[in-house]
Amino acid sequence: MSSEIRLLSSGSPNPIASLTSKRWNSLRHILERPGPFCKADFTASAENLEALQNGLKILVIGAGGLGCELLKDLAMMGFGNLHVIDMDTIELSNLNRQFLFRRKDLGLSKAECAARFINERVSTTRVTPHFAKIQDFDERFYSQFHIIVCGLDSIVARRWINGMLISMLDYNDDGSVDPSTIIPLIDGGTEGFKGNARVILPGFTSCIECTLDLFPPQVTYPLCTIANTPRLPEHCIEYVKIIQWDKENPFNVPLDGDDPQHVAWVYERSLERANQFNISGITYRLVQGVIKNIIPAVASTNAIIAAACATEVFKLATSCYDSMNNYMNFNDIDGIYTYTYPPEKIETCLACSNTPQDLNVDDPNTTTLDDLIKILCDSQRFQLKSPGLTTIISGKNKTLYMSSVKNIEEQTRANLTMSLAELGLYDGATIMVSDINMPTTITLILKYHPNEVEMK
Ligand SMILES: [Zn+2]
Repeated sequence: MSSEIRLLSSGSPNPIASLTSKRWNSLRHILERPGPFCKADFTASAENLEALQNGLKILVIGAGGLGCELLKDLAMMGFGNLHVIDMDTIELSNLNRQFLFRRKDLGLSKAECAARFINERVSTTRVTPHFAKIQDFDERFYSQFHIIVCGLDSIVARRWINGMLISMLDYNDDGSVDPSTIIPLIDGGTEGFKGNARVILPGFTSCIECTLDLFPPQVTYPLCTIANTPRLPEHCIEYVKIIQWDKENPFNVPLDGDDPQHVAWVYERSLERANQFNISGITYRLVQGVIKNIIPAVASTNAIIAAACATEVFKLATSCYDSMNNYMNFNDIDGIYTYTYPPEKIETCLACSNTPQDLNVDDPNTTTLDDLIKILCDSQRFQLKSPGLTTIISGKNKTLYMSSVKNIEEQTRANLTMSLAELGLYDGATIMVSDINMPTTITLILKYHPNEVEMK
């Protein structure tokens, strides 16, 4: 196989000649022969391989642990036109698993180095890198792709691209989605020895936002456990991090997980506490991980999840087999376990329901705008970061609060302590919410709890 690759790399790229290469024999068995498991729209033909190499444009988001695997898998599966976006640069700690990078690449763009590596090695694939944030691109950019596959470690980025692909859907008069406007999103995620792969057909299957409760914001432990009945080394570290640091304030500054002195202090105190409760397993590395909320990356988990995602890209691209339906969990902490199920599409999903959603409020006279913002940030359903709110009063747009623009923040700050009634927001008023989690604004309808209002 490797001599074959070298042979292909040495000549100038010639996609048509490469189609006849022996290298693709295994793919040909799948793409040039009909079989009982093929989808109804599959036609066995040599054109399938040509489409893979020349017709289809695939976007890989993320060039980290999953991204390197994805790019390698897709290139080796014959995909000829790949793009990759990543805003990060290469760090030393990446090199154990992000195998498209070398020591000489430290500090350089992940997207650019990954693209260069694949382009040099696999002559049948052309990877176009984008050293940028996904938010730097608009609908025009994303609409050029046939399939988008994500290897991200950020929920914010996942929600954003999910929202973007949903905002690009067209709807028929009867409210159904125009299938020609769907760009499938394949999403992979890993956390230590756990991972998941899923296929999202925006508007058809459940989306990232429908299953937001599957991603708790961060690993947190109940405060009472941390304070009174610690059982795990993490409980002891959290105790020092959350309670002891503030109480003793050893360096008169907030805790900084990148400062070795801080980490050493937390390590020693955590060890003392663990000894008190007969808990073992405190290590410097674990302390660092808990302070910075880092879960160690496991190369084999990345390989498995990326392979599952790349397989789904291949199936969608060729129709040679039904897509996964539609969410696979993987876990190899204790043996190997996988489970695939279809999470339900939620009627009230903020992203994919295509209808303004209700926002229930008990009493507009006692609920302030600040309370409303807290609901949007803290509830499982919304999990927003710093929402900007506007409304329409007597046909005019009015900004209620916006923290992202300094002078608007100053102008609207006084609204935070005002009640919804004082702000003129009636039952059924429309509120438009923007947030970094979402590429477009969402519309919410205020619903006041009738009983509470009457009781007033
Ligand atoms: Zn949804």
